[in-house]
Amino acid sequence: MTTPGTAEHADEFSLETWLRLHGVIAAKAVAGSDDVSGSVQVKTLQLNERCLTIHMNVGNRSGVIKAFNPALTQSRQSIDREVSILGALKGTGLVPELMAVSQKNHFFVSGFVAGSTQLKEIDERNVVSVACDLGQWFAEFSNRMPSAEVKSNWFEYLSRYDEVLTKEEREQHREVLSKLPILKQVISKNDAHLSNFIRQSDGRLVGFDFEAAMKKPMGWDILLTARVLAKQFPGQIEEIVTALVEGWGQGTDQIDQAEFRQLVMVFTLATAFKALTQNRSWLQQMIDAYNSSDISGTTKVQSGFLAPFGTENLIPTDPATVTKFKAFLHDLADRSLAEKPPATTHSAQPAPSAELSALCAMCRGKCCNKGTQNNAYLKVQTLAGIMQRRIGIGADEIVDHYLSFLPENHVEGSCLFHGAEGCALPREDRSDTCNAFLCESGKLMQESAEQIARRGGEILIVSHTDGTARRAGVLRDGELCEIDASAFTKDDAG
Ligand code: SF4
Ligand code: SF4
Repeated sequence: MTTPGTAEHADEFSLETWLRLHGVIAAKAVAGSDDVSGSVQVKTLQLNERCLTIHMNVGNRSGVIKAFNPALTQSRQSIDREVSILGALKGTGLVPELMAVSQKNHFFVSGFVAGSTQLKEIDERNVVSVACDLGQWFAEFSNRMPSAEVKSNWFEYLSRYDEVLTKEEREQHREVLSKLPILKQVISKNDAHLSNFIRQSDGRLVGFDFEAAMKKPMGWDILLTARVLAKQFPGQIEEIVTALVEGWGQGTDQIDQAEFRQLVMVFTLATAFKALTQNRSWLQQMIDAYNSSDISGTTKVQSGFLAPFGTENLIPTDPATVTKFKAFLHDLADRSLAEKPPATTHSAQPAPSAELSALCAMCRGKCCNKGTQNNAYLKVQTLAGIMQRRIGIGADEIVDHYLSFLPENHVEGSCLFHGAEGCALPREDRSDTCNAFLCESGKLMQESAEQIARRGGEILIVSHTDGTARRAGVLRDGELCEIDASAFTKDDAG
C-alpha cells in the first residue's frame, strides 16, 4: 500500500541534478576562492523533499552545504530563517560558522562540525546531564535573539493549539496557566529534535537546523525539549525537567525559575508523557502477551507501536461525487495553465523505512479520510508538474489524466483515489500535502528509529480505535506478518 509520507521516487531534487547545476559555485564557496582545481569530495548528509545537505571537501577546506528545493514555495522563508540565525550567532560557537550564502540558488555554506549527533549519544545514564547542557544552549541562544512585546498568558497561548493540549487538559490546568503571564516573545528554534545537535569532542553542543525558527513565548524551546526527552525517557521525567530548567538558569520575562519549572512539568506531562504513558502499559502488556505466546519468533518483540485504524471497506465510486471532482479539476487545470506556477517536486524523499511502511500498512491510510472533501489536496502547483512533463498538454487532458487513476471502488469515507491497494495516484501527481504528511504515530516511529535499531528484535504494531485493537502485525526480518488482534483490548489488558 502506498500512503502519504512515504515517497518512492528520487529523480528531480537529487544530488546529481543539484551538483550539475550548482556544484562549481558551491565548491568555490567552500574553497573560499575561484581555484577549485584540488580534489573535491562530496557526501550526502540528508536528502528529503525540502532540502539537500552535503558535506563537501575541496582540497584541505571543508564545508556543509544546505540547499533548499527551489520548487517549494517555503524554501525562500526557510533559507532566510537559517541565514539570519546563523548570521546573528556568528562567532558564538553555538552554531556552525556561516561561510557563504547564495539566495539566488537557494543554498548556504557553513563550517563542518565534527562529532556525533546528540540523538546517537544519549541514553538513560547521561540524559540528565544532556538535559542540563541543552538548557544552557537554549539560554545562550535565546538571550541573543530579538524579541517583541506581547500581552498574553500561558493559558491563552496554549488555547490556540488544540494539538498541544486538548480543551479538557487546558481547563484542568487553567488556574495554574492563566496566572503565568507572557509579555515577551523571542525568536525560538522551535524544533528540539536531538539529531539537530552535535556534541563536539570538547563536549560543546552545536545546534543546527533553524528552518522552523519563529517568535514564541520566552522558554518555548525548553518546553519542546522537555517533551522530546520525555518521549525517549518517560521514567526520568522529573529529573529531566529539573536539569533542563537548571541549565536554562532563569524563568521567563515574567515568571521565576520555580514557576517556569512547574509550567514545563505541566506541559510535558500533558503532551509527550500523555501520548506515551496512556498507552504504554497497554502496549507493554500486548508485547508480553505476544512474546509468551506460541506464535512469537525466537528474536521476540522488543519494540511496540500503536497505529491509527483506517477501514478497508470498499464502496463503489459515486458518479455524482466524480462529476463534482471533475468540475474542480477543470477549474484547477484552467488556473494552472493561466498562472503557470513553478512545479513542485515530490521526488527527493528517502524511501520509507520498513518500520514506517509496516505502520502505514497496519493503519491502511487513515490520513486519507479527508481526501474527498479536500479534492485530494490538489493545488495549481501540483498540476504544474504534469504541464512540465507533457509540454503543450491542455486542460481536458490534465483532467482526463487525473480521472484515469480513479479506482472503481474506493475505501469507504476516504479519498476517491484511496483504492484497495492504497493511493492509486502516482506520487508525482499527488499534492505536496499528501507526499509530505506523517501522522503523530508516524512521526513517533520515525523519531524512534535509533531506539528501534539499538533494541533489535521484532516490532509489534497494533492499529486501534479508543483502546480496541482492530488489527495487529509483527515486523520480523523486514516482513510484516498479520496476527490476530482480537486478544488485545485495553480493558482486558487493564
Ligand atoms: S500510520 Fe499515519 S501516516 Fe501512516 S497511513 Fe496511517 S495515518 Fe497515515
Ligand atoms: S490523493 Fe487521496 S488517497 Fe492519495 S495520498 Fe492523497 S488523500 Fe490519500
